[in-house]
Amino acid sequence: MDNAQIADRLEAFASLLELVDGNPYTVRAYRRAAETIRAAAVPVAELVSSGRARELRGIGPGIEARLRELVETGSIAELTELEREVAPDLVGLGRYLGLGAKRSVELARALGIRTADELREAASAGRLRAVPGIGPKTEARLLEALAREAEPRPRQGLLLGRARELVGGVVAALDGEAAGDVRRWRDSCEFLAVVCAAPDPRAVVARFGELPQIVALVEQSERDAVGVTVEGVPIELIAAEPERFGTELVRATGSPAYVAALEPLPDAPDEEAVYRALDLPWCPPELREQPFRGEPPALLELEDIRGDLHCHTTWSDGRASVEEMARAARQRGYDYLAICDHTPAVGAVRGLTPAEVRRQAEEIAVANELLAPFRILRGIECDILPDGRLDLPDDVLAELEWVQASVHGGQRMPGPEMTKRVEEALRTPYVRCLSHPKGRYINRRPENALDLERIFEVALEEGVALEVNGLPDRLDLSGEHVRDALRAGVQIVCSTDAHSLRGLENMALSVATARRGWATAAAVVNTRPLDAILHPS
Ligand SMILES: [Zn+2]
Ligand SMILES: [Zn+2]
Repeated sequence: MDNAQIADRLEAFASLLELVDGNPYTVRAYRRAAETIRAAAVPVAELVSSGRARELRGIGPGIEARLRELVETGSIAELTELEREVAPDLVGLGRYLGLGAKRSVELARALGIRTADELREAASAGRLRAVPGIGPKTEARLLEALAREAEPRPRQGLLLGRARELVGGVVAALDGEAAGDVRRWRDSCEFLAVVCAAPDPRAVVARFGELPQIVALVEQSERDAVGVTVEGVPIELIAAEPERFGTELVRATGSPAYVAALEPLPDAPDEEAVYRALDLPWCPPELREQPFRGEPPALLELEDIRGDLHCHTTWSDGRASVEEMARAARQRGYDYLAICDHTPAVGAVRGLTPAEVRRQAEEIAVANELLAPFRILRGIECDILPDGRLDLPDDVLAELEWVQASVHGGQRMPGPEMTKRVEEALRTPYVRCLSHPKGRYINRRPENALDLERIFEVALEEGVALEVNGLPDRLDLSGEHVRDALRAGVQIVCSTDAHSLRGLENMALSVATARRGWATAAAVVNTRPLDAILHPS
């Protein structure tokens, strides 16, 4: 049995368990194990036979037992039993039915069907309403769900901000190190992990189980455990032998594909030693997504950032005043802060009229006197209207020192229209930066159809930068898009879009996202001194 076949069987098992209301953490554990096995560079069947399967990330005792059964007998008895009842391709459909897993199985039984196709046929033949308990309303809902089935569904993970908080709490309590998706700063985190150097692993596992964040341990062995938080999110704890801490940290940090390309990993007490033994330069976690063995560039650092160029105040929908925001920015060691409140077309919240923009200028001038040499810039987050015009008259925009242009309403516009709309705005002489270019809300709203390649060309011609918005549910541009932008030669700005004093802390998320796009300080506008911001060449 090769790795792909083993992974397929585990995935089928996970899907069937999910359909019959199996423990969701077990389901996820099997999915993750399948992913790891698929990417593994060594034949997993051999590892299993020689009792070494647990060396693979995410393989606990429960999964190891199933693997042994699979490798030794060619099947998993419980899986065969589940398959007899429900065909695997009906499984994917279950999620769309909105009935709850048990009801979907009942439905399949009542209709005497086993596959997704049979269910679709039964539905279109009007047989659903013959099933006891399914009235015309439920039938309509099911038919609608079946019609929507072709649309891709976003995979649900935790937003990076929340995931960092959660994992950070466990790390602090156990004196461990964050690993998994959080350490790579993924925008949506599914694999949460903490690695501890543990001479006495039992004590660490026990302490983990008693943390207030952890409601229950769903898997547990001598050196690892999976705990579940109140929100129902699994976190994996790896209590490594101290002399293998680096090995386990590398293994639990990189994507399965990245780690697989480094295997076999040597035993080492810290990461640097692991890389040294592999004769490779240490690799920043943000770059451990795809297999990579080269010399990483000197990535942008949080300390390189000299100011924040996008934040809000009580003038629009922020919670702090101009002066309060500026003091907090100065406290962070910045040289400047651009106040970019909204304009009226934003709709949902208050936007500034031209008269208010000028009144705000007076308040900014007063605060600047108080805080000099720190500098507050007169900025705006100006809506791009559906026809591409900006939401403030030219004479007002011309007074400002930093203009962000933003699409808020109408994100669903077709690509060519959206691209033309944004291009028009960037062609004005005032816009310095395009905010949250792809308009996504992570796990809630997909990216808009803006043609980035075209926008890169326009941005280059007009000297406009693209934002890496640091709001945890935006992170837009994404790391991948940052990489595309930089390859095209476009400059980026790392901003927080802060609506409160605490919001300024999201610079770390923006910087990490830029790092995931291989950004160096030279490519980031707000690593430059104030003068370069005020007088761009
Ligand atoms: Zn905005
Ligand atoms: Zn904003």
